[in-house]
Order: sequence, then C-alpha cells, then structure tokens
Amino acid sequence: MKRVCPYCEKFREIEIVKKMEKYIIHGIEIESEVEFSLCTVCGKDFATMNQMDFSLTNGYNAYRKLENIIFPEEIISIRRKYGASQKIFAKILDLEESALKIYEQGTLTSKAVSDLIRLMEASEKFTEMFGKNKYKLSPSQIGKLENMLTKQSSCSVRSV
Ligand SMILES: [Zn+2]
Repeated sequence: MKRVCPYCEKFREIEIVKKMEKYIIHGIEIESEVEFSLCTVCGKDFATMNQMDFSLTNGYNAYRKLENIIFPEEIISIRRKYGASQKIFAKILDLEESALKIYEQGTLTSKAVSDLIRLMEASEKFTEMFGKNKYKLSPSQIGKLENMLTKQSSCSVRSV
C-alpha cells in the first residue's frame, strides 16, 4: 500500500507491521499489540492516527483486563439498562457528564469509578444512588426512571 512517509515526505510503498510491545500504563507494565507503518524506502517507521488509536485501545484493554477495570461497552450497557441518558446517569452517579462521555468513548476510568459503575448493575444499588441524587433531576426525568426501575424489579421477581 502507498502512503506518505513523513521522513521521505513522498508517497512510498508502506508495510503494515503488527507486533506485541511492552509498555507502562499508570505504572503497570502491560503487553499488547501495536500497529505501525514501515517505509520500504528509508526503513523508518511511523504510526498514523488510526494506528495510534488501535494501539492505545489495545493497551487500555490489556490494562483493563489486568486491573479489572470496566470496559466502555459495559458502562454503556449498564446505563442503558435504566434507559438513562449520559447526562442523567452522570448526575445519579455524582460524575461529570463530560467524564462519563469520554469513559464511554474509551478513556480509562479510575478503579473507584469502575467499581462504582459496576455496582450499578444491581438495580437495588442503582435505586439507592438514584434516591440520593434525585433532587438533581426534573420531575419528568424522575418519573421515567421510576417507571424503568419498577419494570426492572418486576422482571427480577418473575425470573426468580
Ligand atoms: Zn521513508
């Protein structure tokens, strides 16, 4: 494949290289797959934005597995379980909406935030937090969530 090599500053035949690499994330050594482009003319390597994203995502995922940190898809699925928007879910959890947004897009959460969000999987825990932070929500938002929670609890009764 042809791509502009930043060293030659010309279109060059590029090889895509994938390999396992060790590096440190938050003080923890992890090993995960990285991808980069190798210029077949000058022999130098570089990473495109997509390749950097790919490598970073792999690195974060390896870190999540090692440290038992929640994955972005898990956050989204727990939030959706209650039909809550990012804005509302953040308010109930005492998080910044902008923080929740980037966590769902792939930014690593701290262990504390990860544990907090995982706790919300249990609807009684979510109900507890909802009760505590309800005052931040509008009556219609409260109504919607209460309906959802009633449905959740009737489901779990049925499945027992
Ligand atoms: Zn080159």
